[in-house]
Amino acid sequence: MRVLSLPRLPSIGQKEKLPRVVYTIVECQSCHAKVKRPFNAGDFVTREEGACSSCSGNKRTSLIYSEEVAKSK
Ligand SMILES: [Zn+2]
Repeated sequence: MRVLSLPRLPSIGQKEKLPRVVYTIVECQSCHAKVKRPFNAGDFVTREEGACSSCSGNKRTSLIYSEEVAKSK
């Protein structure tokens, strides 16, 4: 059986940097529903995000992270 080759990791010092997009994950403290949305200026972890649409619980920002975006050819 052949082992699938893993995608190459970008090496340090790579000339071309992939653009990154920052996302914010908002999680409901009651039902733990998670919503991913683009990062807005002023977002920070533990920020209150208002009431959950499904259970009316408190939503908070639980994670902010960035993803590399593959270039479209
Ligand atoms: Zn909820």
